[in-house]
Amino acid sequence: MPDLSRKMNNFTDSVIRRMTRISNKYGAVNLSQGFPDFDPPKEIRDALKIAADRGPHQYAITWGAPNFREALAEKQSKFMGINIDPETQIAVTCGSTEAMMAAVMTVCNPGDKVIVFSPFYENYAADAILSGAKPIYVSLKPPEFSFDREELEKAFEQKPKALILCNPSNPTGKVFTLEELKYIAELAEKYDTFVITDEVYEHIVMDPCKHIYFASLPGMFDRTISCSSLSKTYSITGWRLGYVIANERIIDNVRKVHDFLTVGAAAPLQEAAVAGLKLPDKYYIELKNLYTEKRTLFLKGLDEAGLKYYKPNGAYYVIVDVSEFNVKNDLKFCEWFAKEVGVGAVPGSSFFKEDVNYLIRLHFAKKDETLIKAIDRLKTLKDKVKFYTE
Ligand code: GLN
Repeated sequence: MPDLSRKMNNFTDSVIRRMTRISNKYGAVNLSQGFPDFDPPKEIRDALKIAADRGPHQYAITWGAPNFREALAEKQSKFMGINIDPETQIAVTCGSTEAMMAAVMTVCNPGDKVIVFSPFYENYAADAILSGAKPIYVSLKPPEFSFDREELEKAFEQKPKALILCNPSNPTGKVFTLEELKYIAELAEKYDTFVITDEVYEHIVMDPCKHIYFASLPGMFDRTISCSSLSKTYSITGWRLGYVIANERIIDNVRKVHDFLTVGAAAPLQEAAVAGLKLPDKYYIELKNLYTEKRTLFLKGLDEAGLKYYKPNGAYYVIVDVSEFNVKNDLKFCEWFAKEVGVGAVPGSSFFKEDVNYLIRLHFAKKDETLIKAIDRLKTLKDKVKFYTE
């Protein structure tokens, strides 16, 4: 057989998604890959039934059905505080996974550099590598997971094409402050760099923190490529509906990448999701309250289980510190954890550039009863771990 492309030599399949398969294999409560086990809003489910009967069942316009883009532009204009044109400033994609890949491919030429904060959502390294770009990692330091200003400027001095900003952050739950974002903006302007955002947890931010859209900062719209999705906001991760918002010139090229990669997101699902985009403001307040309560329930459970963690302010993940158990290989530990403790987790090494093998990520986007079941199992960890060997 001829050689395969070398591009894939430097990364594995997604460990997050692998952990779901491992959790299923052992019947673990799956707190690894972040997705809810509760239903999307009734309005969306009802609209899906209608779409099943009335369609559309054929291709939507490649960059998004007009009514979906209109509803999305209206909602995002309101939340982002920017007037977004549905005709020219939106590309609808298959999840924000495609949005991010299309964004990186749109701005990077082979050999370009991209700043990635570490820890990071594991797709970004693959996005950069598949686009021929090289990541420059900048550490987010616990417990606040903030960056060192000098270290960030040093990264900018290497003339990167873009910085990838996940805010609220997966996996730490960090919500970037206005001061931090302004500093990034200052450097982006000084070094003429794009900022590609992943803001899929934009509506899951706990009080008193607030989500600030990077594109909404003064002068930043034209250099920001805002990526997000409907997955987490409406609990429809399997629908694969994402989008990119940016200026016309950028979107024109994002649409080209998207057109030849996937042609379009599923037409009947775009049709049904319009009902979600049109939900009143109350929906987003209730969503935030729901996740705030789940965070309280879950962190209390972690306390009862005697586990140390970093409290998240946004998204639905918690980084748990397992250093006391003398873990050498966190991937093996997570497999053991799923099998023997019965809870699925993601090893920290999937997110950190630094040599970290004592952190794992759990998520709390589950029904209360599921979280309680997981907590009951987590309480057995300290006894079971006595028999853990690598
Ligand atoms: N964002 C989710 C997580 O970090 C997974 C998303 C996906 O698998 N596409 O777990």
